Amino acid sequence: MNWRPLVRLHISRHLRLPRRPQRRILLTFGLAFAALVFGERAFAGFADPSAPVNAPLEIVAPAGAGPIGDGNLVLVEVKAVDRLDGVVDRVELAFDSDELWVSAQQSPEDSARWRAIWVDPAPGSHRIRVRAYGVEQQSVVEQSAVIDVQDVANTSYIIDNPYAGSGAFRKGELHMHSTASFDGWNSLPPAQDALAYKAKGYQFVAITDHDLISYPQEVNDASFICIPGYESTADSGHITAPFATSVVSPDLPPQQRIDEILASSGLAILAHPGWRVGWTGMDFSRLRGYTAIEIFNGGTTDPAKGSSGNLKLWQDVLNEKGYRNRIWAVAVDDSHQPEAMDRGWVMVKSPELSSDAIKRSIANGAMYASNGPSFGAIGVMNGGIAAVSPDAAAIRYFNQDGTLLFEGPPALSVFRPTGKERWVRVEAVMPDGRTAWSQPFWLMPNAPRAAFKTSPLGATLAGQTLPGARVHVSDRGQYLGSVVAGDDGAFSYDSPELGDGDHEFWLMATAPWPDQVEGPATLLTASGTAGFSALDAIGRWIREAPVHSPRG
Ligand SMILES: [Zn+2]
Ligand SMILES: [Zn+2]
Repeated sequence: MNWRPLVRLHISRHLRLPRRPQRRILLTFGLAFAALVFGERAFAGFADPSAPVNAPLEIVAPAGAGPIGDGNLVLVEVKAVDRLDGVVDRVELAFDSDELWVSAQQSPEDSARWRAIWVDPAPGSHRIRVRAYGVEQQSVVEQSAVIDVQDVANTSYIIDNPYAGSGAFRKGELHMHSTASFDGWNSLPPAQDALAYKAKGYQFVAITDHDLISYPQEVNDASFICIPGYESTADSGHITAPFATSVVSPDLPPQQRIDEILASSGLAILAHPGWRVGWTGMDFSRLRGYTAIEIFNGGTTDPAKGSSGNLKLWQDVLNEKGYRNRIWAVAVDDSHQPEAMDRGWVMVKSPELSSDAIKRSIANGAMYASNGPSFGAIGVMNGGIAAVSPDAAAIRYFNQDGTLLFEGPPALSVFRPTGKERWVRVEAVMPDGRTAWSQPFWLMPNAPRAAFKTSPLGATLAGQTLPGARVHVSDRGQYLGSVVAGDDGAFSYDSPELGDGDHEFWLMATAPWPDQVEGPATLLTASGTAGFSALDAIGRWIREAPVHSPRG
């Protein structure tokens, strides 16, 4: 055999999933420089000559010249030291030329450390600006660093981050009744009903009266919108239909009602599972096309039992329907009177407050459900799933089996997947048990890290991917075979006899789950013309950024 391997590698994208532009982050540290308001000389005049020559203010993260990984959240950490009294009064940050300064939080473990989470930075070059107040009797000290945000992911897995799109979280109610409902005698008329929610800080509501659309759009303004909708009410099960513009007959069977709700621009949410007119796990698995299920309903969820039964139903339907048909979870009031308002809601991340934008975000799972706490930030940070809650006592991470993977502090918790998880969901939990529930973060294999060397007749392709993933190999479009990675993610594939000439090895991993979602591929090219002798090519680890495809 006389082909000579190993000259170049390049990236091949073999993704069949529909993709949308994605925020992907690579942080590299550019030029960092001190821009002391009082200048170096003034600073030197204040400094104690015996003190260490550390700058009083230093951006310690993001740091280093290399990539720090993928995600829509970036931890910015600052070290601020006052060598006179040890205490810095306040640290704040701004980005680029923005004069919106945001306060950093002092680390509970180290009073000299301050941190903030940078949410949804756009790809490109940015300047992080930091100010500290009360440093060595100076009123303010400033420093900045230039970083480059790029589209690169960093791990053997890709996390499908439902919160990757930019936007703000907006509080909304997707299930409530007005006096227009037959059982709404204690409710308010539609416009008043909507405005009562607005007064409680909601930015949108769907009034879901039984089989009729109440849509008081006269209440809409720049800070609040009502969206059309109704609750399809039948003994075969209730379905709320936010955004629907016409009412389907309640006499039709559930699947037909779902189909017609979707056809009339609505989303179909299966209401109050486990209630006497509810849905069973069998219904969840049998029905298709619905968007979400209610895991908490202020009217029907038994306070003593909580949502555990509904969460188990949701877990089962997620595992059964898989990534391609992922189902979201919502919390709702189902209020029939003002006292029942504000028990369960959704926080929807959308770039603007419009019916279309809110609908798109709900359909794509860019929301979380809550009956109490909030997430100050949630998403992917440096390849881990990160969450912050200002009002919870703990952040908990669960996998596809309902196993508690990790419990962390509400100030900032990051769970870095092992690669064995099919999906991970996050809860923020208050001391009294009230909870915010994230949507699942699904995992799939990134492009395998791979290298190859010649064997007597062919080649050995070895590398690293997700534990248990099957790596498929082809050469110039000819499928060669596959190999399953071990528990540590390592794989090694021996090719059959290969002919002379150029070779182009293509490797793609599919996770051990039935989803069989195709990830990005690695392409290794061996040219017959290059003169070269080394037998092991160290391939760059070729990566793709998180994929979050609109739900199929
Ligand atoms: Zn109902
Ligand atoms: Zn209802």
